[in-house]
Amino acid sequence: MERRKDFSDLEREVVEKGNCALCGCCVATCRLLDYGYLSMDFSEGGPVIGEGQQYSPACGSCFFSTGRPVLSEGPQCPPTCGYCYYQCPRVEEPVLKERWEEIYEVVSKDDAIRGVCHNGGALLSLLVSALDDAIVEGCITVTDKGGLMPEVRVAMNKSRLIEGAGGTYGSAAALTGVADAILNYGLWSVALVGTPCQMAGYEKMLEVGRGTHNAHNFSSTVRLRIALFCPGAYSYDTLVKEYLEREHGIPRGEITKLDIREDGLHVYASDKELLHAELSEIEYYKREGCKICADFTGLFSDISVGHIGSPAGKSTVIIHTDSGKEVFERAIEWGYIEAKLIEKSGADLIHRLQQEKRAAGLAEKARRKK
Ligand code: SF4
Ligand code: SF4
Ligand code: SF4
Repeated sequence: MERRKDFSDLEREVVEKGNCALCGCCVATCRLLDYGYLSMDFSEGGPVIGEGQQYSPACGSCFFSTGRPVLSEGPQCPPTCGYCYYQCPRVEEPVLKERWEEIYEVVSKDDAIRGVCHNGGALLSLLVSALDDAIVEGCITVTDKGGLMPEVRVAMNKSRLIEGAGGTYGSAAALTGVADAILNYGLWSVALVGTPCQMAGYEKMLEVGRGTHNAHNFSSTVRLRIALFCPGAYSYDTLVKEYLEREHGIPRGEITKLDIREDGLHVYASDKELLHAELSEIEYYKREGCKICADFTGLFSDISVGHIGSPAGKSTVIIHTDSGKEVFERAIEWGYIEAKLIEKSGADLIHRLQQEKRAAGLAEKARRKK
């Protein structure tokens, strides 16, 4: 019988090759299987050692440029498990099912939301609408826990969503929030907001987890998937600490927002722009796992949200599925948002960026396979 692969194979085939997307799906799966052996480490820039393991501080011959999942002390993985390996979207991509695309320019009709979201506020308004409509009981989002460090949060009302809105930056394993929502908050219907790789990871969980009792938890718990446009993620430690603090003398406490757009990185302190840098200038800080990423908008989501393609002060929203359309139409009907079809130039820009990212990601992937 063929050996079932496990976490050691995941480390060797994905993490050590720099292909990990830091999506956190392996961690979330292990936790939902009731083992919880894995944890994400986002320190990004140094070797990550699990508790109780040995290393030589004087060695220094290993240097990981990306974060990675690590095993905690003394795990005894069941020989028949291996779900962390098989559900990883970087071992094998999930299958893309039939989907469609309608692209809108959207603005929130809620003053409080527009007050904290300067790009139209569509994401928060869609989430609040889904909460009020009882489509979901909670929303898994990534917020700023201080100093621009990202934190996964389960928000169950508008004020909590507004509180978490704003200038966070960096990767966070949003899917671990599913376990939090179920185990700590007792929720059975949630919205998941995350990056395109996390949407792919979730799809993969559904594909490979059908045979386990916990796959049911996942499939029945996440009722709405919202992807955020992602041009690439950058290492927090290097981008914020090395590039902004050391090279440019911008203390992180001063920064209220980091925005990465098609024309580069924008750094703000309230409304004042502190720095604009071309993407080529910060390419060095892009995470290795992001360099093989081929998805800009989030092909495995119900709805994608970003601000590229729409005029300033508006969000771009792409509807992919019937359930996404239902949430979107209810939000319009109940007066949460205003929407109109996007201009052709905006749609063309999004398609161009999607194609460029796909071409670059596939080329880098092919190069790494040689
Ligand atoms: S890509 Fe995601 S599932 Fe795969 S190893 Fe990295 S964090 Fe885990
Ligand atoms: S093999 Fe199973 S128990 Fe072990 S780390 Fe992976 S998911 Fe967790
Ligand atoms: S570029 Fe791709 S792999 Fe990196 S965070 Fe974005 S969606 Fe995930």
